[in-house]
Amino acid sequence: MQLIFEKGRPGRKGANLPKCDVPEKPLQELIPARYLRSEPAGLPELSEPEVLRHFINLSRNNYGIDLGFYPLGSCSMKHNPRVHELIAAMPGFSAVHPLQPVELAQGALRLMFELGEHLKEIGGMAGVTLQPAAGAHGELAGMMMIRAYHRERGDTRTKVLIPDSAHGTNPASAALAGYRTEEVKSNAHGTVDLDDLKKKATSECAALMLTNPNTLGLFEKDIVEIKRILDDVGALLYMDGANLNALVGLIRPGDMGFDVVHFNLHKTFTTPHGGGGPGAGPVGVSERLLPYLPVPTVEKSADGRYSLKHDLPRSIGRLSTFYGNFGIMVRAYAYIRTMGAEGLKAVSENAVINANYMMAKLKDLLPLAYQGPCMHEFVLTGKPLLKETGVHTRDVAKRIIDFGFHPPTVYFPLVVDEAIMIEPTETETKETLDAFCDALAQIVKECRENPEHVITAPHTTPVGKLDETKAVKELNIKWIPPRGEG
Ligand SMILES: *Cc1c(COP(=O)(O)O)cnc(C)c1O
Repeated sequence: MQLIFEKGRPGRKGANLPKCDVPEKPLQELIPARYLRSEPAGLPELSEPEVLRHFINLSRNNYGIDLGFYPLGSCSMKHNPRVHELIAAMPGFSAVHPLQPVELAQGALRLMFELGEHLKEIGGMAGVTLQPAAGAHGELAGMMMIRAYHRERGDTRTKVLIPDSAHGTNPASAALAGYRTEEVKSNAHGTVDLDDLKKKATSECAALMLTNPNTLGLFEKDIVEIKRILDDVGALLYMDGANLNALVGLIRPGDMGFDVVHFNLHKTFTTPHGGGGPGAGPVGVSERLLPYLPVPTVEKSADGRYSLKHDLPRSIGRLSTFYGNFGIMVRAYAYIRTMGAEGLKAVSENAVINANYMMAKLKDLLPLAYQGPCMHEFVLTGKPLLKETGVHTRDVAKRIIDFGFHPPTVYFPLVVDEAIMIEPTETETKETLDAFCDALAQIVKECRENPEHVITAPHTTPVGKLDETKAVKELNIKWIPPRGEG
């Protein structure tokens, strides 16, 4: 069979599809012979139900936030309201073209402008860029602006300070921006050791990258003193805002003295994430960093029109091919507008209450790495359990899967041995939190009574425990047909 497309075919009746020029000749006559296949492509012959069943069965082997509790610490795996998907799919948003003239993209620009204004308000910052495509990308943007700031003052600073509890992206971003990094120790309470900070905050120091609340789920309550120490040596303060789900509506990074904060829209402001994206990492900046914002910025003129401003001579330049991950911005905007100021504050309060509730229930089962109260997450240690029973935290994590839950983050932050990091988020009920605590209690009991059963878990998944070391050493990626097909 040969398909010949009609010229200027109008599409489905009634559907207002644009006309396009489709060639009249068969494709075989249009494409040079050397580019044509000499043999059929060898695609499998499948019926529609077979294809459907294949993908449905694959999806049933997967686990996601819509199937159950997902307490992955540091990742804010909260509910993603379905209404956001409907809004992001509206043609005005989903079909807007990045090269469309700004006069024809006023709605999209308005959304970007207003999202930026909301983020400025939430962060207490003077300016914002929406371009970075992830938190880590935002970190790079922030560090580049900090570097531009120092350079313009003829100040060639070489190092960036990063606490030992920080996320690995922090030193990576600082290094990409051309800095060497130096670690600042945590004290016995799990927060920044001020004496160590004072020692390392020299005139060589460009900035401190601080996560607040930090990755141990603890609020850096010495933030005012930290800011003073950095001010004394002319260094700037960067906030890794990945844990903002604990703070929105309660306290603002700008008011704490931060010069830069990145927002992980996919965490704090709901977008389906995990497995690598997509995300968005807008960055808020203080007054003194405004001139360095990436171009273009989204501007609103007195007559209410929106435009893109490219003419910012001191800008660090462009960070994305176009304007960032627009679909994520739409979801974040929808979330902020539906929640409102009071709703967003309640989110933070409930996230903190949920975490403290679980922490209180679990701390006698597995010891806390650092004493609470915690913010939106907390860290337990499986070290005593390992000593007593020979069962590692990674085994406990795999066994949790058999109880129908996603495991928490483990072995992070690195400063805690056998770390188990739990972030319940605000969208889970007390019943769910209780069920997870009960499962963990049951597993700890099993570690004592039948450790082998925990060590060989999971027992209920399509694929059992993998030999991770072997997988790294002898990488073997091949297609394994599902049962019945091979
Ligand atoms: C998630 C996270 C990041 C990185 O953000 P991405 O959006 O994944 O690039 C950085 N720091 C902390 C503390 C995080 O939790």
